[in-house]
Amino acid sequence: MHLGTSCLLFFLLWMWNGNVVKELNYWCRAAMMKSVRVVVVGAGVIGFSTAVCIVEALPFCSVTLMADKFSPDTTSDGAAGILFAAQFPDIPLQRQKHWFKDSFDHLLAIAQSQCAPEAGVMLSSGWQIFKEVPAVKKPFWSEFVIGFRLMTDVERKRFPDHKFGQAFTTLKCECSTYLPWLEKRFRKAGGQVEQRKVNNLQELSNNFDIIVNCSGLGSKVLVGDTQVYPVRGQVLKVEAPWVQHFIRDGDGTTYIYPGIRSVTIGGTRQEGDWRLQVDDRDTKGILERCSRLEPSLNKAKILNEWVGLRPSRKNPRVEREVVELQGRLVPVVHNYGHGGWGVTLAWGTALDTLGLVKQSLHEMAPQPKL
Ligand SMILES: Cc1cc2nc3c(=O)[nH]c(=O)nc-3n(C[C@H](O)[C@H](O)[C@H](O)COP(=O)(O)OP(=O)(O)OC[C@H]3O[C@@H](n4cnc5c(N)ncnc54)[C@H](O)[C@@H]3O)c2cc1C
Repeated sequence: MHLGTSCLLFFLLWMWNGNVVKELNYWCRAAMMKSVRVVVVGAGVIGFSTAVCIVEALPFCSVTLMADKFSPDTTSDGAAGILFAAQFPDIPLQRQKHWFKDSFDHLLAIAQSQCAPEAGVMLSSGWQIFKEVPAVKKPFWSEFVIGFRLMTDVERKRFPDHKFGQAFTTLKCECSTYLPWLEKRFRKAGGQVEQRKVNNLQELSNNFDIIVNCSGLGSKVLVGDTQVYPVRGQVLKVEAPWVQHFIRDGDGTTYIYPGIRSVTIGGTRQEGDWRLQVDDRDTKGILERCSRLEPSLNKAKILNEWVGLRPSRKNPRVEREVVELQGRLVPVVHNYGHGGWGVTLAWGTALDTLGLVKQSLHEMAPQPKL
C-alpha cells in the first residue's frame, strides 16, 4: 500500500472513537482464530437459541451442537411456550429485564414476519387472574409486553372466584415447530449437529476449545450440579378453536393457552417429581379446573396428554468458568436451569452466553505485539 494511504488510514483509525477501535481489534484477533471449535451441549430451546446466536455472530468459529435428544423429544417441545416470567431472587433485576426484553423483541419480530407460521410464533392476548390481590400488581415484564393494564370489573365478572386481574398481549412460541426452524437456521449458518450422549466434559476436551453447557436437567449429572431439580408439569392439548384468549391463574397451576393448531391446558407443578408418565388424576384435575374458568372446554376433544420436567434451580446458571480437563484449561460457559420460563428467556440468556463465549475468545486470542 502507498505510504500516504497507509498514514491516512492510520490517522482515521486513530481519530475513531475507542469502542470502534476495540471492536476492530477484537475482529482482527478473532480472524486469527479461524480454527476455534465450540461445542454446545443440548438441543432444547436453550441449546438451539444459544447455538444460533454463536454461529451467526462468530462465523470464524466452528460450532457443533451435540445432544442425546432432539425435537420432538425434549422438554421444550411440550412447553406451552407462552412468554411470562417470575422473578428470580438473586439475579439483578436489570439483567432479568434484559433477558425478557431481548427474547420478546426477537420473537415479536418473527411473529410479525412471514416466517411466523413456519417458526411457530404468534401473538396471544388474554388475562392473568388472581384469587387474592398480589403484592406486586405490575410485574417487571409489564413494560415489555403489549398493552399491559389491569382488568376492569366488567371483564373480571366472568371469574367470580378471582379478585384481581391483568390484561395484555404477549407471545406464544411453539417449540415443536420453533426448534426444527432454529435447527435449519443453525445448519444454514454452517453449524453442525451430532446426536450423542455426553457422559462427562472430559470427553469433549480433546475435540473442542470452548464448551457451552445447555443441558437443562442433564446438568445434574453432566456437571454435578446438586442445585438443579425437576418440577413435573402435565398438560393436555385439546381441540377448541373457539377459545381465543389465554387465561392463567396467577398461582401458576391452572392455565388455558390457545395455540396455532390446539389449545394447551394445564397444569401441575410437582417439585422433585421425576415421573414422566401421564397421571390420570392429574388429567381429571386439569379438566375440572380449566372448565371452571372456561366452561366450553367440557366440549373439547382431547388430542394429547404430555408430561415434562422443568429444569429448575433457585436462579438459572448463566456464567463462565475455566475447568481443567485432561490437563488443559478449557472455558465452560453454562446456560441452564430456567425452570418454567425457558422459552420466555431463551433468546435473552443466549445473547448473554454469546457474550461469555466472546470473553473466552478474547482471553484465548494471541495478544497483538505493539
Ligand atoms: C408443562 C410445561 C409447560 C411449560 N410452559 C412454559 C411456558 O409456557 N413458557 C416458558 O417459557 N416455559 C415453559 N416451560 C418451561 C420450558 O419447557 C423449559 O424451561 C425449557 O424447555 C428448558 O429448555 P432447555 O433447553 O434448558 O431444556 P430441554 O428442553 O430439556 O433440553 C435439554 C437438552 O439437553 C440434552 N442433554 C441433557 N443432558 C445431556 C447429556 N449428558 N448429553 C447430551 N445431551 C444432553 C437433552 O437431550 C436435550 O436436548 C414449560 C415446561 C413444562 C414442563
